[in-house]
Amino acid sequence: GRGVAMVTAVASRLAAQRQQIGRILAPLKLTLDDLRKVQALLRREMELGLRKETHATSSVRMLPTYVRATPDGSERGDFLALDLGGTNFRVLLVQVGSREQGGVQIVSEVYSIPPEVTQGPGSELFDHIVTCIVDFQSKQGMVGQTLPLGFTFSFPCQQMSLDQGILLSWTKGFSASDCVGKDVVQLLREAVQRKQHFTLDVVAIVNDTVGTMMSCGYDDPRCEVGLIVGTGTNACYMEELRHVGTVAGEEGRMCINMEWGAFGDNGCLDAVFTPFDRQVDEVSLNPGKQRFEKLISGMYLGEIVRRILLHLTDKGLLFRGRPSPKLQTPDIFQTKFLSAIESDGLALRQVCGILEELGLHVTCDDSLVVREVCQVVALRAAQLCGAGVAAVVEKIRENRGLKQLSVTVGVDGTLYKLHPHFAQNMQATVQQLAPRCSVTFLQSEDGSGKGAALIAAVACRVASHQRA
Ligand code: BGC
Ligand code: MG
Repeated sequence: GRGVAMVTAVASRLAAQRQQIGRILAPLKLTLDDLRKVQALLRREMELGLRKETHATSSVRMLPTYVRATPDGSERGDFLALDLGGTNFRVLLVQVGSREQGGVQIVSEVYSIPPEVTQGPGSELFDHIVTCIVDFQSKQGMVGQTLPLGFTFSFPCQQMSLDQGILLSWTKGFSASDCVGKDVVQLLREAVQRKQHFTLDVVAIVNDTVGTMMSCGYDDPRCEVGLIVGTGTNACYMEELRHVGTVAGEEGRMCINMEWGAFGDNGCLDAVFTPFDRQVDEVSLNPGKQRFEKLISGMYLGEIVRRILLHLTDKGLLFRGRPSPKLQTPDIFQTKFLSAIESDGLALRQVCGILEELGLHVTCDDSLVVREVCQVVALRAAQLCGAGVAAVVEKIRENRGLKQLSVTVGVDGTLYKLHPHFAQNMQATVQQLAPRCSVTFLQSEDGSGKGAALIAAVACRVASHQRA
């Protein structure tokens, strides 16, 4: 009698808790219909961003890149490349040979840039970059050589040509002063001039999405989209020049850097944001900006999870209602933990272990809830990203008046590469939302560096033709 009653009481309390957790997580679960709306909204913003008259009203900037073709395999030469704006800063030596010669060979070096440099005076950031190049050149025995350089700079830039780009805004935790509104190539050249006995030949500034598209395009000519899901998120694709109202000319195509991370900055995605997303946005370095990015990319997902866990604890649904000081620490959940917690075949005890590592002392029931929160947040990110890709490939299909389009998307980024389910969930969404496109996803290897070198190679070829 009494025992059964107690078990029933416990069971119904647990069921009530489950229900409460379900209610709290519900706004983070998107239906196919929600995703269709996101796809349609992005499509509209793309059109607005492309047209000269409406360009300023769109939240996606649709920036021309002056890259007019994907590689054709005839690119050759030795190039320096810089990769700034992802998880690491890198300097690379890229040797592009014929396929028989082994194709593209890369040697690279990773350098850390401390936050006091990414968030300090701009001149110091560029001085630091130059110091790293000098170090790389001496390590590679290249002192005194001046190779053409492709600069992968993964921030929104208004380009007027391949080797000029005005920084429109910093994103992803960068905030160095006196850079916004300036030509980044010029800032680099000025830093070079401050250093004696050293020269650089910057021939191209390249967004990482574009580098990724180009590097995958070297192996697959159907690659006409580049996608990054890492610290930040963004995409680029080949658009018909006649649709690009912000660049003269009607014939041919140009790669457009969408800057889709800013999708929703004009309020058009407000229905999707939850209170947790709004909190993460408000305390970020760039409140109100990069709203789509803050739902998707590695820099923010862990923070969303942490906010939800704090709320669940507050409601007595987690950690026996007692938040540990650790859980109060911003940015404690890095992408790699999210990926680890969702690893397939991971026993609950191992999930507990990961949380212990973070200094969170949890019961196994707790870790079950934590895992569910991670799943919900990462699934939403993958689906939103998929809705974005669907909008892009559908536009390419319609541009070409095709019933069916086969297209390849070159992808890079730590979240895409390391998360156990992100790629699969994103691809499933693309298939549902763009059934008339058959989309292949190709992971790029060293996309940013290799792509920047390929773009530099094309630039040098064109320049030598013009001189001739
Ligand atoms: C930047 C983009 C970049 C993306 C991925 C965003 O924050 O604005 O230019 O492509 O991150 O790195
Ligand atoms: Mg990168």
